[in-house]
Amino acid sequence: MNALEVQGLTVEYHRARRPPVRAVVDVDLSVAAGEVVGLVGESGCGKSTLARAVIGLLPRAGGTVLLDGGEVHELGRSARPVAERRFQMVFQDPYASLNPRRRIGHQIADGLRGGPAGRDVDGCVAELLEQVGLSGTVAHRYPYEFSGGQRQRIAIARALATDPRVILADEAVSALDASTQAQVANLLVGLARELGVGLLFISHDLGVVRHISDRVAVMYLGKVVEQGPTEAVWAAPAHPYTRALIAAVPAHDGAGVLPLALAGEVPDPSKPPSGCRFHPRCPIAVDRCRTDEPVLVTVGPTRTAACWLAADVPQESA
Ligand code: SF4
Repeated sequence: MNALEVQGLTVEYHRARRPPVRAVVDVDLSVAAGEVVGLVGESGCGKSTLARAVIGLLPRAGGTVLLDGGEVHELGRSARPVAERRFQMVFQDPYASLNPRRRIGHQIADGLRGGPAGRDVDGCVAELLEQVGLSGTVAHRYPYEFSGGQRQRIAIARALATDPRVILADEAVSALDASTQAQVANLLVGLARELGVGLLFISHDLGVVRHISDRVAVMYLGKVVEQGPTEAVWAAPAHPYTRALIAAVPAHDGAGVLPLALAGEVPDPSKPPSGCRFHPRCPIAVDRCRTDEPVLVTVGPTRTAACWLAADVPQESA
């Protein structure tokens, strides 16, 4: 059984006297224990909306989210059940995600609530701080006394305090400088492997995702258009959008930015194009693409893509 199973997730934004905007449409996604799954796509493709709906911060118009087979409900006014607290999120902004008025030790200790009675909370907090590469003696300090990278480590320690099954990291390293990004990404992956925690790593940075992910899911305008093992997808991307994203990863000489590889911008999700949502930007679109919407089909033993022209991926790279 997968640690996280997302089935048919759909998210709609409702607007007065206008049809709802479908920001996420019928997404299936899974993360196994100890597995790192990267979710990529341009800004505005629905990645963060998907993340918030998966964890229950946004209402879902359809679909289910299962953690170890038990349903994760949308967050209401009452406290989240202990079982569902084992699903944690690390947000993009390490400055906004911690309460500036509370000592970091108290914030980490919040996650220990509901654990075994009589345990040494201060000792557990010190251990968690050390697990994320900070000194166990800094628990009495306030968030402003730390750098952005250190705050993100504190946010990870707070997530670990619940003994999570899955951590959802939403652009968790993109606000950090380049060297800190690598350190925090490596920390997350190391902890996921060591503790058997599933990690859903959402990022617009394909370089980082390629470096750390076992599998990758590519999202375009609210839909997953390709999924598969990261190296196989990189070696032979089946969807033209994936090919464009990979071509846009900056090379050492600075070449490879998205506008050069792919014309135009992500369309307005309130008016998605007919047929294949990618057709106005697709360099190989044919007539059928303008009228018929492709569904995800198998393009290799462990790979899927939604494209009428997705060539079968060679067995050795699937
Ligand atoms: Fe391009 Fe057509 Fe494939 Fe869509 S279905 S990605 S428009 S070739």
